[in-house]
Amino acid sequence: MQLDPATVEEAAKQLYIRALKDLPPDIKAGFGRLVDRETVPTAQGVLATMLRNIDVAEATDNLLCQDTGIPIYNLHVGPGVLFDGQAVLAAIRRGCERATREYPLRSSVVHPLTRRNEHSSCGIGVPVVHVDFDAPAGQVQIEMVPKGSGSENNSFLKMAVPAEGVDAIKTFVIDCVLAAGGKTCPPTIVGVGLGGTSDLAVALAKRAATRPLGSHCADADGAALEAQLSVAVNQLGVGPQGLGGDSTAFAVHIELAATHITMNPIAVNMQCHSARRARATFTPEGVTYGF
Ligand code: SF4
Repeated sequence: MQLDPATVEEAAKQLYIRALKDLPPDIKAGFGRLVDRETVPTAQGVLATMLRNIDVAEATDNLLCQDTGIPIYNLHVGPGVLFDGQAVLAAIRRGCERATREYPLRSSVVHPLTRRNEHSSCGIGVPVVHVDFDAPAGQVQIEMVPKGSGSENNSFLKMAVPAEGVDAIKTFVIDCVLAAGGKTCPPTIVGVGLGGTSDLAVALAKRAATRPLGSHCADADGAALEAQLSVAVNQLGVGPQGLGGDSTAFAVHIELAATHITMNPIAVNMQCHSARRARATFTPEGVTYGF
C-alpha cells in the first residue's frame, strides 16, 4: 500500500475535530461504572453534570471541552507500506493547521518564551508526532489525542532509589494523585511509566494515560500493579473535580520497560475526564474512522 500525503492531511484535519467532539465508548462506559459505585451525593451530582455535558456536546455537534489541548498524532505503520516520511509528517502538520483555521478551533499552542500564538495549533515541535512500526501488514493507523493542559500540567518524574523497589512506585503514584487533586479535572486515567531512561519513562506514562479503558499492561506484574493501584487511588477521596468522593480515577494504567540496575524511574502522566482520542485506519480500500 502507498500512503498518500493528501489523504493523510485530510485525515489529520478530521481527526482533530472528531477527537474534540466524540468521547470514545470505553470512556463513556468508564463513567457508567463510576456512577454505579459513587456513594457521595456531591460527587454523584458532579458526575451527572459531566454526563449531561457529554450529551449536550453530542446533541449540538459541539466540543466536549473548551480546552483544545496540545495536538498529538501517533502514527502506526505496518509492513508493506510505502511512504515518504517527511511528506507524511508535513501533511499531518497541515491537517492540524487546517482543522484549527477552517473549523475553526481555538489554538491553544504558544511559543514557550514569547507566548505568541500562531492560531494554527502548531509551533516548534508541535503537533507532537510519534511513529511506531506496529500496525498490521498493509495498514496504517493514525491516532489523534488532544491532550488537555489541566491534566498535562500534572506530570511527574522521580528517579527513585532501586532498593526501595515497588514500594517507591506505589508511594509516588499515590502522592502524585493527591498533589494533583482537582487540578487535573478528575476522574482521571493515571498513566504510570516505569523503567527505561528518564525520557522513556515519561513517554510510557503518556502512552499509559491515553490507552483505552479496559486495556491492560502487557507485562503480568505490571497488570497486577495496575489493578492494585486502581483500587488504591479511589480510596483517597479526591473525587470528581476534586470536590470529594469515590470517583478519583477511571483506572491506573502502567507501561514499562527494562531499566538500569542502579535506576528506578517512575513517571506519572494524567488524562482528564475529557479523555478524548480518535483514530483513522488506512487500508488499500480507503480510510475509516473510529477510536
Ligand atoms: S484538562 Fe481536560 S477537562 Fe480539564 S479543561 Fe483541559 S481538556 Fe477540559
